[in-house]
Amino acid sequence: MSSRDFVYEKFFNFYNNLSTVIPPPVSFTRREFAFLLSREKIMLRHRSFANPKALSSFLKEKVPSDVYHSCAYYEYPEEEMDKKGWQGADLVFDIDADHIPTKCNKIHDEWTCANSKCGFSGKGITPENCPVCGGFKFETKTWPCDQCLDSAKEETVKVLDMLKNDFGFPDNEVHVFFSGHRGYHIHVENEAVKTLDAVARKEIVDYVSGIGLTMFASSGKEQRKRRPQVFSLSDYGWNKRLKNGMRKFLLNATKEDLKNAGIKTYEVIVKNKEAILKRCLEEDRWNSVKGVSTETWIKLAEHVKDLESAKIDTVVTTDIHRLIRANGTLHGKTGLLKVECTVSRLEAFDPFQEAVAFKGGTARVLVSDAPEFRLGGETFGPYKNQKVELPTAAAVLLVCKGRAEVLK
Ligand SMILES: [Zn+2]
Ligand SMILES: [Zn+2]
Repeated sequence: MSSRDFVYEKFFNFYNNLSTVIPPPVSFTRREFAFLLSREKIMLRHRSFANPKALSSFLKEKVPSDVYHSCAYYEYPEEEMDKKGWQGADLVFDIDADHIPTKCNKIHDEWTCANSKCGFSGKGITPENCPVCGGFKFETKTWPCDQCLDSAKEETVKVLDMLKNDFGFPDNEVHVFFSGHRGYHIHVENEAVKTLDAVARKEIVDYVSGIGLTMFASSGKEQRKRRPQVFSLSDYGWNKRLKNGMRKFLLNATKEDLKNAGIKTYEVIVKNKEAILKRCLEEDRWNSVKGVSTETWIKLAEHVKDLESAKIDTVVTTDIHRLIRANGTLHGKTGLLKVECTVSRLEAFDPFQEAVAFKGGTARVLVSDAPEFRLGGETFGPYKNQKVELPTAAAVLLVCKGRAEVLK
């Protein structure tokens, strides 16, 4: 059996043995559905279904490697884009290890320029443009790594905190999902955001990313006198985030940390830490410690802004026609499920346990190369050109990631 047939068979069994329909998105009939059919190597788009059962039948028959639906609601979801009649869209966030500078991505991620005349390659996050030929298409080799997913979870927690405390969305309108690969999705289903256009969504992206913050108390009088601007922070939104973030950072910061943050007066800060925390941060007397100037505070705030802002895939949020993976379906690159996890349980959520779709059975595979990984409560690898018998889920993951071939 070829590796592709092996994966197809597992996906076929999964969709054909499902005891319930996949959890449908709200306004089900107004969504566009799209499918990647890996055997036929085609993307089917502009589909809609009368009910979740009809979708289930379709999945059983076609066995797509990936299932998507639009974040948007349409009057005619099956029409071409300009004739669909856009009625609104959920606000979505995609938090993916591809966009987070983790320490481990240099170990397990590689990219190669797809320009056949170039072929330049490197490790870590894929650049926007090839540094040699300027091309923008790449072959990438990534890994759904434990550490990367923990980082993605941390970023997700930041977004959720902003959605709840700064924007005021109630928990029942915010849904969090493991994407099935290297990150998390957040869907906000709320009447007020539904009809926001791309520009308004970009404002939300900027807020979440901490872009365009002003950290001065701007007073016309001061500017006329050409006095240095005064640093000040209120107790709302990003001001509060910066203040709490600075407190957290300063409490634990070593000289080295401060130096790395670009603070020249790190000696003064380490020596006067307690006074700074009390007078400046608690009592808002920002210029009350000698050697800690407005300039120092701005540097600190900039650094803390980088720590507290969330690293999201900005394009996904601003795209009002975006297709997003359907909850409860398999990811073609891993064989793992996209699954919902409640906001309150996110901390304890383990994707390598709860997104495992294939239970029972084993398969013999030849692994070309794979780092050590965890799945379904077991640890595997690392492997290099090795024949091994693995539980189905682990074998599917390696085959889907192009790291192994099935042996007869
Ligand atoms: Zn190139
Ligand atoms: Zn990693």
